[in-house]
Amino acid sequence: MSINLEQLQPRLLLGPGPSPVSPRILAALARPTLGHLDPQFLEVMDEVADGLRIAFGTRNAMTFPVSGTGSAAMEAAMANVLEPGDTAIVGINGVFGGRLTEMARRMGAEVVPIEAEWGRIVDPEQLIDALRAHPHARVVATVLAETSTGVEQPLADIGKAVADTDALFVVDAVTALGGTPVNVDANHIDVCYSGTQKCLGVPPGLGPITFSAKAMDRITSRDRSCQSWYLDVALLAGYLGSERKYHHTAPINMVYALHEGLRALIEEGLEARFQRHARVGRRLQGELEQRGFRMFAQEGHRLPQLTSALLPEGREEGPLRRRLLDDHAIEVGGGLGAAKGKLWRIGLMGHGAADANVDRLLSAVDDVMA
Ligand SMILES: *Cc1c(COP(=O)(O)O)cnc(C)c1O
Repeated sequence: MSINLEQLQPRLLLGPGPSPVSPRILAALARPTLGHLDPQFLEVMDEVADGLRIAFGTRNAMTFPVSGTGSAAMEAAMANVLEPGDTAIVGINGVFGGRLTEMARRMGAEVVPIEAEWGRIVDPEQLIDALRAHPHARVVATVLAETSTGVEQPLADIGKAVADTDALFVVDAVTALGGTPVNVDANHIDVCYSGTQKCLGVPPGLGPITFSAKAMDRITSRDRSCQSWYLDVALLAGYLGSERKYHHTAPINMVYALHEGLRALIEEGLEARFQRHARVGRRLQGELEQRGFRMFAQEGHRLPQLTSALLPEGREEGPLRRRLLDDHAIEVGGGLGAAKGKLWRIGLMGHGAADANVDRLLSAVDDVMA
């Protein structure tokens, strides 16, 4: 064990996550660990649920942080609502729609993929048509903020159409929560999940999730129990409810960090927070375009918190990205899947969504491009 963690070089995290963690949240992680059944901790857990309801825009009773990252919350969403033989309609316009598909298949579901070109939204009408063509579909799933491309998916029409049927609307809000509006109840979302390490500005480790009453009815009337024991909401309800029954040990200090992150969000106010993300994101996008970068995401559907920018003609992204890290201690992301080698993914998320970070990044970009 030769690494002294105190000597790790800090980085400015402007990639697709994790995002920068503020000192107050790091301090929360260092509070004394309590038992997961300690009445003090249970109060913290209840407040976390309240804070998550505010962030998600929901009154759903079943709202809590999954013990695991955003992918664990995605798996919890799919595992709890799907049974073998069910049909799941999934919108795919990037990596995370693909991951939803893969998970649905592993749950034994029949997937109806509705694909769109990377960088474009999934046409809501196509998803709605697919639901008409498959009236017994159990799930319609889509990604609100596709982190692999920087596209923001419109949800309202899909939500309205799904609400008129027995199907459940599942939405990935991992990169959206705390950065751009999610509005679970207004958008008729039945299952919505996120992660702590993006716009909430908390380290990776928890996956906030919320289930509507319609989703809970479905879960409690399943023919077979959930394929995952660890992520089974019917079992987790025993701990989260008044019974406080042991299921697994909550990651205590991560829950503290999320509590502090939600406190910061409520202090700032959701609207102010959205405006901050929108303003600094648009500013970065404009400045990059002036430097010869081209935006990858469809105009009118660009996420401010995640900019996907194609490099100017003839520039190789890998070595330049490495220089941002080595010479300027700034991390940005490269392309994933179909976009590999072509673009940068720049996150201005949570605590990282600040003008000072845009300034620092732009001067570093100017240096490595010179
Ligand atoms: C990051 C991300 C995930 C996965 O979250 P992890 O914390 O990496 O497990 C899922 N969906 C989207 C849209 C994401 O951006």
